Amino acid sequence: MSIVRRKTRKVMVGDRAHGFVGIGGDAPVALQTMTSTYTYDIDTTVKQINALHAGGADLVRVAVPDRQDTIALKEIINQVKIPIIADVHFHFERALESIEAGVHKIRLNPGNLKDRPKVEKVIAACKERGIPIRVGANEGGIIERGNKSQRAEEKAALDQDYKGQMTMIMVEKLEEYLRIFADNDFYDVVLSAKSVDPEIVLGAYRECSRRFDFPLHLGVTHAGPPETGRIRSVVALGALLAQGIGDTIRISYAADPIHEVEDGKELLQVLGLRLRTEPELIACPTCGRIEIDLISMMTEVRRRLKEITIPVKVAVMGCVVNGPGECEGSDVSVFAGKGRGVIYVSNNEGVAEQVATVPEAQILDRLFEEVRKFADRVQRGEVKLKNARVDIKPPDPIGELGSGWEKIKGEKMSLPVMKV
Ligand code: SF4
Repeated sequence: MSIVRRKTRKVMVGDRAHGFVGIGGDAPVALQTMTSTYTYDIDTTVKQINALHAGGADLVRVAVPDRQDTIALKEIINQVKIPIIADVHFHFERALESIEAGVHKIRLNPGNLKDRPKVEKVIAACKERGIPIRVGANEGGIIERGNKSQRAEEKAALDQDYKGQMTMIMVEKLEEYLRIFADNDFYDVVLSAKSVDPEIVLGAYRECSRRFDFPLHLGVTHAGPPETGRIRSVVALGALLAQGIGDTIRISYAADPIHEVEDGKELLQVLGLRLRTEPELIACPTCGRIEIDLISMMTEVRRRLKEITIPVKVAVMGCVVNGPGECEGSDVSVFAGKGRGVIYVSNNEGVAEQVATVPEAQILDRLFEEVRKFADRVQRGEVKLKNARVDIKPPDPIGELGSGWEKIKGEKMSLPVMKV
């Protein structure tokens, strides 16, 4: 089973010096984030962009509220190697200055840049340079604030059914705004319709994917700190991506944006939408059977795995009860218990082979000796990654109950009926 992505137009972001990133079409889902620095502070902004690039971001957006920011933009673009997007609100001049500075994509907000001649000037400048535009509606900025009677009408509709109406207002306003682009024969467009509410996000993007063939930039806006924003973001973005909707994502946290990149990368990797490039750690949650300090051990394993440069899968299990199944596909595993660790490594035939039984104090060092040896064998082409079959018989095997395999083979599987 794999995710079938919705077909969209494709836009290209970047240039030869900064690389090209596709959004939509046949391009993989691109991961983006936004700096939290003042853009006019060139050194700090460049340092953060480079850290986000090294962390795995494909695109980085910067805020350009003032002229001093767009002046700095040229030097920032000269010093980085990743395509840069200018985030423009209220002032169309900032978009024109950013384009002049060499930016690779513009974000316009239809909630605060509505004057048609001004939008047309930005479209014309982008068209001339081949720069795409994201039209990004946000729940917080979409309600009419200038026209009093329209505001009253929208507010009354929202009072009836806030989530449903807000979803439709965002999509309708995008559609209305897109007419300016169509009238100017400009289709190098990415769309977003963000909210802090995952239900509105789900509804808005589903509707956008039904109505438009432009690539979609997914995001839950103002999600808060990672501790609370993570669930909110992953629920909405994960559900949409699993349905094939979404061509670039940004997870938004009130924190160092490197956390947005780390979590966005993990989300795409677990959904099979991005190749894993670094080690993967699985670990049991621990329970009353645990007989070693597994949590401390797992933390140290995670720290030491940073030195490994290939996507080796390492499993750290508290005992042998559920361990074998969980470790299937892991390259190096340890089952701990009674103050000892039993270490398994995937052999050339793809079978997890017991290589050592060591006291608790030696588990970490021995495990990493095996992880390094395994990584070297992968690089020499002697073994394949994530190929291991675990032939370890747990103390309480499935037995007569069966695993369901006979039914699957006979195609007799049916979904269980849940009675509440
Ligand atoms: S692997 Fe063992 S110790 Fe860990 S949660 Fe499962 S049963 Fe408990």
